[in-house]
Amino acid sequence: MKITIEPAGPGDPKSLPANLGFGKYFANLMFSQRYSAGEGWHDARIGPYGPLSLDPATVVLHYAQEIFEGLKAYRRPDGKINLFRPWENALRFNRSAERMAMATLDPEDHVQAIVELVSLVQKWVPTQESASLYIRPTMIGTDVGLGVHASQSYLHYIIAGPAGPYFSTGFNPVAVYVCSDQVRAVRGGTGEAKTGGNYAASLFVAEKVKARGYQQVLWLDATERRYVEEVGAMNIAFVYDGTHVATTALSGSILAGITRNSVLKLAPDLGYTVSEERLDIQKVLADIRAGRITEAFGLGTAAVIAPLGTLGTENETYTINDEPGPVARRLYRTLTDIQYGRIPDPYGWTYTINSKN
Ligand SMILES: *Cc1c(COP(=O)(O)O)cnc(C)c1O
Repeated sequence: MKITIEPAGPGDPKSLPANLGFGKYFANLMFSQRYSAGEGWHDARIGPYGPLSLDPATVVLHYAQEIFEGLKAYRRPDGKINLFRPWENALRFNRSAERMAMATLDPEDHVQAIVELVSLVQKWVPTQESASLYIRPTMIGTDVGLGVHASQSYLHYIIAGPAGPYFSTGFNPVAVYVCSDQVRAVRGGTGEAKTGGNYAASLFVAEKVKARGYQQVLWLDATERRYVEEVGAMNIAFVYDGTHVATTALSGSILAGITRNSVLKLAPDLGYTVSEERLDIQKVLADIRAGRITEAFGLGTAAVIAPLGTLGTENETYTINDEPGPVARRLYRTLTDIQYGRIPDPYGWTYTINSKN
């Protein structure tokens, strides 16, 4: 794919505050390309980061034909930059596109666009501990008109910005509300796709329980309201007796996370056993009470491993632990060591971009 390179817009990473937060600042270049039926993908360019101009009747604004991805670029000790499993993101982007009846793209082109963008904005890849450049590929339906149909034209763009640790409280266990009323996604629906509507659907409960001190929502399956699905926008795992990591089996309404998949491969090499199961919430709560579940955490690119401190139902609070457990710490440390290139990567997960800094 030939990408036209244009001059960057205004902005300088040196002017950013030390506390970067998450998703607040963006590098001054972005990738974009357009798709039209008959013509395919065209006009690939990396140009200044800036506003999009969309007709108010654009399909995405009404019928939510939108998908996204999330991955990070990590500053290595030698100054080079690592991407983590970028092809997995590109393949998942296509799976999301298929589910939302959108155009797919050559995964090689997608990875090339990310690599070229990151190379050009490399001074925006932070050097602070636990910080990274968060990369957000996005695709939207751009047909104009209110008839409900799959768009015949699309805009694919990739933005990137320096980010600090995901949770402002740091690597501390969070309070989780177990939601048995609303659901996030239903089997046969769009839960397996990374599409904006899923997140919009989750906001109502998240906002409602925030006032009660909850930082995350644990979602149950839509049919029986019985099996654990995800926590917020993360996959979930429970540690049994400090030695066994049990995560939810992919049910058709769970997003197949790359962090989850990586932990399933990594944990056995660290001496833990792993399983993918249907996890009944009543059994989980009983196992917390009985002390069999010693840790729980969320899994996702943004937070990597997010320790869960308590699970709260309408009537009761179940305390797992009040500080990150040893398994969460060890998985977090090993996975981030691989991502940042601090230890060798025996899995072939990292793709290194030579820095010109
Ligand atoms: C992105 C996402 C995840 C985590 O996926 P990763 O590939 O590990 O970042 C889990 N659940 C949902 C709903 C997500 O959107």
